Amino acid sequence: MSKGATQGRPYPGVSVSTKLLFYFLIFMMLLLVVLFVFQVVLLNVFYRYTKTNEMEHVSDMIEVSLENGNQGLSKTLIDHADEYRICIRVFALKDSGAVEIADVDAAESCFLHHIESSTLEELYRRAIDREGQYQTVVPLTAEQSDIVVDQNDLVNNGKQIFTERLSMISVDICYAQDGTPYVIMLNSELTPLRATVQTLRVQYVWISMIFVGLALLMAMVFARSIVSPIVRMNQSAKQLATGNYEVQFEGEGYRETRELAETLNYAAKELSKNDRLQKELIANVSHDLRTPLTMIKGYGEIMRDIPGENTPENMQTIIDETERLSELVNALLDISRLQADASELSREPFDLTEQLQTSVERYDKLRSQDGYTVQFAYDRHVCVNADKTMILQVLYNLINNGINYAGEDKTVTVRQECRGDKVRVSVIDHGMGIAEDQIPLIWDRYYKVDRVHRRAVVGTGLGLSIVKTVLERHGAAYGVESCAGQGSTFWFELELDEIEE
Ligand code: ADP
Repeated sequence: MSKGATQGRPYPGVSVSTKLLFYFLIFMMLLLVVLFVFQVVLLNVFYRYTKTNEMEHVSDMIEVSLENGNQGLSKTLIDHADEYRICIRVFALKDSGAVEIADVDAAESCFLHHIESSTLEELYRRAIDREGQYQTVVPLTAEQSDIVVDQNDLVNNGKQIFTERLSMISVDICYAQDGTPYVIMLNSELTPLRATVQTLRVQYVWISMIFVGLALLMAMVFARSIVSPIVRMNQSAKQLATGNYEVQFEGEGYRETRELAETLNYAAKELSKNDRLQKELIANVSHDLRTPLTMIKGYGEIMRDIPGENTPENMQTIIDETERLSELVNALLDISRLQADASELSREPFDLTEQLQTSVERYDKLRSQDGYTVQFAYDRHVCVNADKTMILQVLYNLINNGINYAGEDKTVTVRQECRGDKVRVSVIDHGMGIAEDQIPLIWDRYYKVDRVHRRAVVGTGLGLSIVKTVLERHGAAYGVESCAGQGSTFWFELELDEIEE
């Protein structure tokens, strides 16, 4: 993280509020464009479409009653003429000529009722040419229509008619059951939409302004509510970076931010624990290193300066202290290798009983000079599939602890017993034991029950942490049974590979 960024200089990039505002505006614009197209541009088209459908519907109803021998014709005419404000004229084409059988004048001034019969004939001819159906838009009244009709262009045929008031004409030819042809002529006024469109345009401008304002407001409100927990967590994270592990992450508002806050709180707790343990390690390790180093230096100087002090005992002391140092360094190396995942498990089937026996014997021989006894008890020979080196490291650490914390009897017992498909290895001593409340803690890295450093019992606080890591990597169960003053039994269980009787 650059220093400037933490000191308040904003990062390059788009902020959440700007992005939100951008998306809101895009959404609003789309909404407004759709509104404009449908309400303003296409209003006339929709209106005409609806009118055409209405006329077709009325024409169909009349056609049905004509085909059924004029049954209910007058009722159909009156009902629909009133409902849709449509003028209706129906002609029966007899041999003697056209006879008008129905005539409803629902509008004040109607094109159909004010035109010459020649124009009616022209409409009829056009319907015949178009398979018995013809629709057109003409000026509302006959007087206005003269302008067009006189020029023998009654129908606009798609051309624009420049007059305010228009009406739609529909001509339908149908046949009764007896074969008599009927001509159904309908005429309905088209309300001028110019004023409506104008009104909608003005409304549209207002609606646009209101919605853009609303978009701005909503983007700001949303952005604030989304961003504020993130901003708060960012501030807490900056404090955490400066080493303040007490900081609390709060992510109220959203499930995701709450989850993130929980994770960060957990991370802060772990960091603080690690930091504390690290400090303790440095204190412990430096103490442990300093003591043997002081001894080595002191004895070295004595042997150099005082004649006669160059004795084998003094040399042994230097060797012992050097061993202690290398033990400490080795434990540190082991743990860092395990933690860094550098050493992969290399499982192989091996004879556990044999390995345990050999290690115990070797240990026993080594420590017998100091009066310690390490003994081995087992029920039968077993094989396991595990990382041999690591499992022996576990055993070594446990025996070492057993000896370090052994009781008066100075005896450590390693016991191997089969339990179903598992084998349990226990390391038992009769020493000081561990208080119940300390038991869950001893597996932690750098943890030592006895904080006050005692030379007699030297430890790194890493042994059990290595044991724990190795056994967990194997998926093995492990634990300790102990009572203060009554000794401890450390155990772990491995799955049997094959049983040798
Ligand atoms: P250390 O190097 O200090 O022994 P370990 O991780 O091996 O570190 O053990 C952690 C602590 O657990 C020890 O400091 C000791 O207090 C306690 N402990 C471990 N083994 C025994 C034991 N057999 N008897 C009593 N206490 C033990």
